[in-house]
Amino acid sequence: MHVVACIKQTPDTAAKVEVKDGHVTWGDAALVVNPWDEYAVEEALRLKEKHEGKATAICMGPESAKEALKTCLAMGCDEAILISDPALKGSDSTATATVLAAAIRKMGDVDIAVFGKQAIDGDTGFTAVAVAATLGWNALTFLSKIESLDPAGKTIVVERSLEEGKQLCSSKLPAAISVVKDINEPRYPSFMGIRKAAKANVPVWSAADIGVEASQVGAAGSAVTWPEIYPLPAREGSVEILEGSPEEIAAKLADGLIAEKVI
Ligand SMILES: Cc1cc2nc3c(=O)[nH]c(=O)nc-3n(C[C@H](O)[C@H](O)[C@H](O)COP(=O)(O)OP(=O)(O)OC[C@H]3O[C@@H](n4cnc5c(N)ncnc54)[C@H](O)[C@@H]3O)c2cc1C
Repeated sequence: MHVVACIKQTPDTAAKVEVKDGHVTWGDAALVVNPWDEYAVEEALRLKEKHEGKATAICMGPESAKEALKTCLAMGCDEAILISDPALKGSDSTATATVLAAAIRKMGDVDIAVFGKQAIDGDTGFTAVAVAATLGWNALTFLSKIESLDPAGKTIVVERSLEEGKQLCSSKLPAAISVVKDINEPRYPSFMGIRKAAKANVPVWSAADIGVEASQVGAAGSAVTWPEIYPLPAREGSVEILEGSPEEIAAKLADGLIAEKVI
């Protein structure tokens, strides 16, 4: 069984997001594996281990994204592939999905593509479903558990985590799945894994390598642009600290709430 984990390189969650000249910037914050994608990698590794398969991590991104892919190798992925090409810059989610789907198609033997719930920068939460649609695969989203998987019968039964509760779904493979953090506890890279990853060669596939035309991807192939990103205006408000005994504070609080017509 061949499992592919799709990972995006994003700024660290601790990064300070600023808007400068209408563009979002994270300054020189550390770039990491999108936090939600750590769960995708872990699930890919668990599937590979349980079913004696192979796990490959792929990422569309700049050369720097090799570092995120090396983290996946250090966690235990067998291979990591970067899809990088100047033509891919400015891709919207649909164009990103075109690229990832083309890379998966090129591999030829993929049974499952695992995605995080969303990327913490673009945040559309759309890529997994778009990859499934592009490949003509089934999409199973927000998984909190893989109940069972039959590699020979090419079927999977999963638990989806919805706001209203849980839903059990079964599907034929191949499928694209997105996972939420209830699904597992991502492992830390092992010492041996880190050493192996440091020496690993991460192949780079260009747009031509995966058979996509420049007009299908990047800004040229994207219908969505995000010309302006702006912070929310600071909330206006004031704070008053009430002092006194508990009884005095309670009385002042009640008077204040009545004066403000809250009660
Ligand atoms: C600030 C900002 C705003 C944006 N706004 C939009 C917008 O409104 N509409 C739009 O279409 N695009 C937008 N984009 C572009 C979008 O981020 C990229 O196309 C992106 O690669 C896919 O969308 P996403 O980040 O929303 O990922 P999501 O769909 O939220 O990601 C879901 C999962 O898909 C996988 N994945 C996502 N990107 C990659 C990748 N590059 N390589 C491998 N796996 C990946 C990961 O598993 C991830 O957890 C925006 C980008 C930025 C930086």
